[in-house]
Amino acid sequence: RMVEAKAAASKDDLRSPICCILGHVDTGKTKLLDKIRQTNVQEGEAGGITQQIGATYFPVDAIRTKTAVMFKEGAGAKLGKHEDFDYKIPGLLVIDTPGHESFTNLRSRGSSLCNIAILVVDIMHGLEPQTLESIRLLRDRKTPFIVALNKIDRLFDWKATPDNAFRDSLAKQKTSVQREFETRTQKVITEFAEQGLNAVLYYDNKNFARNVSLVPTSAITGEGVPDMIMLLVRLTQERMSDRLMYLSELECTVLEVKVIEGLGTTIDVVLSNGVLREGDRIVVCGLNGPIVTQVRALLTPQPLRELRVKSAYVHHKEIKAAMGVKISAPELEKAIAGSHLLVVGPDDDEEVLKEEVMGELTSLVNSVDKT
Ligand code: GDP
Repeated sequence: RMVEAKAAASKDDLRSPICCILGHVDTGKTKLLDKIRQTNVQEGEAGGITQQIGATYFPVDAIRTKTAVMFKEGAGAKLGKHEDFDYKIPGLLVIDTPGHESFTNLRSRGSSLCNIAILVVDIMHGLEPQTLESIRLLRDRKTPFIVALNKIDRLFDWKATPDNAFRDSLAKQKTSVQREFETRTQKVITEFAEQGLNAVLYYDNKNFARNVSLVPTSAITGEGVPDMIMLLVRLTQERMSDRLMYLSELECTVLEVKVIEGLGTTIDVVLSNGVLREGDRIVVCGLNGPIVTQVRALLTPQPLRELRVKSAYVHHKEIKAAMGVKISAPELEKAIAGSHLLVVGPDDDEEVLKEEVMGELTSLVNSVDKT
């Protein structure tokens, strides 16, 4: 009975899911994230960050506000009253990966961390070469994904209702616009079928395990964005809760090694599961051998801010997954991106942990060469 009680408690204590955003260049990945964050990374707020993996944390309060419109009449979501809806996840960590062709390795690393993915497709262009590459990645890793069918505002004569639920906006369009939407969507569905995937509009999806959901969106007008976030919330908390329970074991990956003025060499990590604490003794893979050091500071950007964008950091005594975290500690100069990060617990044999992180050295160094 004790065991049962423990299991029940942890199902109500979910960690934040990690979602990555993938797709062909220019489909609107950055713009979609900007729309949710209310930032402007796409137009250069974060000049020069396109070559790195970014991580943004969306706390549940922001999610709740963004999805409120889904509970109105016309949204078609049948979710009941907003105040009664149980948002079980504490937030959502979104990882975005560089779109440029030569960063296949970073895209692969980013996508390997996520529990669910958004594949962005431009409704006017359909499936493009990097869409196919992304589909291969997601399939190889068996990552569940949804498709944002973006740029619906470019349908001829589209009349926008900013930040509206998609179905309400569609109902307000002229018949000719609704027809163009149907024709273009059908074309995309056919292209997915050619890849062996059964894609359907998310609100017609009766089998989430078998069919890929299409969510029509516009990153410019914000239409469909509430639908997209709501779908992510529901898919993760209703279908993936097993994978979102806290583990006593840490899952943490180094994304980047960076020198920061005033902090020295730091590592940006994605904490996928478990808890990190200031003062933890950590082990990571280094070019010249295992690095064992102690966490001096645990830093995150403000909620809704990018880990890559320079801003005031928030200091933490401890951080629960999932989160993008900057770690300041001595002797990180030779740390390798992609390495796992382990914490030395009271019962751990440090030598075993060192061997474990160094086991990855060859594959990590090879993949660094390719980028
Ligand atoms: P990324 O390469 O996938 O990150 O694409 P960006 O977010 O940089 O967007 C590429 C271009 O498409 C930019 O000029 C955006 O302003 C534009 N764009 C993105 N989303 C939309 C959309 O929903 N509607 C329209 N009309 N333009 C969009």
